[in-house]
Amino acid sequence: SVMRLILDHLRGLWRARAYALRGIFCWLVGVGYLLTDYNGDFDLRFNLRPQQPIDPEIIVLYAEPEDWGAAGPRSNRQEALDQTDGYFWSTEGWNRMLKSLLAAQPKAIGVSYFFGAGSDFALGQQHLETLQDPRVIWAARVDSEGRALLPALARPYGLNTGVVDFRPGIDGVVRRLSSPLVHIPIFGQRLAERTRSRESSLPYGYSLHVNFRGPKGTFPTIRYRDLIEGKITAAHLKGKIVIVGSQSLANHQVLTPLGFMSRAEVLANTTDNILHSRWIRRFTVEVYALYLFAALLVVIWIILSYPQSVSTIFLGAFAIALAAVSVWWFDAFYFWIPISAPIIMIAVTFIVFLSFQLSVNEQKSWRLEQESRNMRELEQLKANFISLISHDLKTPIAKIQGITDRLLVSMQDAEQSQDLRALKQSSEELHKYIHSILQLSRVEARELKINKQAADINVLAEKAIAQIAPLARAKEIELAPDLEPLFSLEIDPVLIGEVILNLVDNAVKYTPAGGRVQVISREEGDEITVQVIDNGPGIPKDQLQRIWDKFYRVESQETGAKGSGLGLYLVRYFIELHGGRVFAESGETPGLKIGFYLPLEDVGGV
Ligand code: ADP
Repeated sequence: SVMRLILDHLRGLWRARAYALRGIFCWLVGVGYLLTDYNGDFDLRFNLRPQQPIDPEIIVLYAEPEDWGAAGPRSNRQEALDQTDGYFWSTEGWNRMLKSLLAAQPKAIGVSYFFGAGSDFALGQQHLETLQDPRVIWAARVDSEGRALLPALARPYGLNTGVVDFRPGIDGVVRRLSSPLVHIPIFGQRLAERTRSRESSLPYGYSLHVNFRGPKGTFPTIRYRDLIEGKITAAHLKGKIVIVGSQSLANHQVLTPLGFMSRAEVLANTTDNILHSRWIRRFTVEVYALYLFAALLVVIWIILSYPQSVSTIFLGAFAIALAAVSVWWFDAFYFWIPISAPIIMIAVTFIVFLSFQLSVNEQKSWRLEQESRNMRELEQLKANFISLISHDLKTPIAKIQGITDRLLVSMQDAEQSQDLRALKQSSEELHKYIHSILQLSRVEARELKINKQAADINVLAEKAIAQIAPLARAKEIELAPDLEPLFSLEIDPVLIGEVILNLVDNAVKYTPAGGRVQVISREEGDEITVQVIDNGPGIPKDQLQRIWDKFYRVESQETGAKGSGLGLYLVRYFIELHGGRVFAESGETPGLKIGFYLPLEDVGGV
């Protein structure tokens, strides 16, 4: 049975393969989108979030070459290609500038200009005092082979330098800050060392996502020119971390998720991140793929367990919830979770699964339609068959009846004529059956035509009584007609004649020998009624309503009379076809009172 359980399980999985394959397809779409838009989704988040808090001590100071009296670019092509700022160097200019800045008592000054060796430095002792002040950090660079390019003003071991080494992604956008390959800490880390007594705690071999605090201009900026011209006082710099840079030089422009920023501004961001350890954490792609898979399971569950309208709403809510959680985690915990990939995946899953369900349903309804058409055809075939058979049976029976009648007349032998009479009765019964079945098949095939003409009900009743009379005489049953003169009615005399014959026949059939059967016709209000009353066994009250049903025969009747259970069904059908109604009463007096009412004024005509 364990084997069977496993087999059942496997079979269930096999049946669900259509869903599983579609689910995997949708997941792959989600993962594919995640991979193609990995950075786009990440960058988007910076642009969506509101103003972020910044370290209040960090300030950007823009000092352009002309501000310190640089002589303008010389024709030093090599240096230009190295993207160094050496050709803007002016010992006097920087000495003057740093002196004035240091006088304002900042915590630290970081110079984002790179004044590499090889430039024309004419330094004297009096200059070094200012230019190598322990509060000043000079930018160092890393060349393409990973060697540190120390600035000309570097002290031994590069103690007053910090590496500036932005490594952009393949799309040229700087997102990460990676540990340098050299033993000099990065620029922001140096500034942090200067301002905090503790060592900054960047792990070895780190690669961190910069938590950009906002677009260009998020950190307060001052222009050195404004200081020179006295528009602002140096007091602004007191206790600050001043990052000196340029906003006009082309090689100072860095592409970030928030657009171009100056090198000094990016350094302000990384310094802020280091001081507050607020980096963006990003899981690996595998983790996000798993996340998408979990979301997919929820989505499929929603689609499969709710009707389309409800699941549409739920899926929309689910997508919004995922996006909201993602935004919240980014803002509150600096965790990046993709938004667009899951939303695209949800949309694709929605479309794929709903269209699949639609096609499955369509197939189902098509099959149902096919089945019902087959059923209808079968029904038609059956009806045709029955009417064909009954027609063909009628002729030989009529022949048998004719022959038995003839034989009965000439028969002398008492025993043989007894047999012949039995034969005649049987063939009559058979004839009745066939007739009922034929009528039923006509009714069911809606082939029954009603031929209305003026007829006297009493005449029909007398005909029926005359037909049953021999049977009644044989059973010693008294047939007592009580027919009131009536107006003639617009009816089908054949059908109504059959109805009356059926009722009288039943009464004689089910009433024991010596009984009495009354046939009454009356005009009551605007109706005409025919009633057949016998004093036989009657019908139990609880079965009285069911005698009108097709093939119904009362249970536990001891009369032993044979029948098809079709007679009264046809009676009711024919009467209702004429717009009349049938009734049956039993219980108060012995026997059964059964009959029908027909409207005088024809209402239900066909
Ligand atoms: P059947 O061919 O069996 O007579 P009917 O539809 O004519 O079928 O009658 C349905 C059943 O109603 C009969 O089988 C019988 O049990 C009961 N029934 C009909 N008429 C009488 C009656 N006059 N007295 C007692 N029972 C009757």
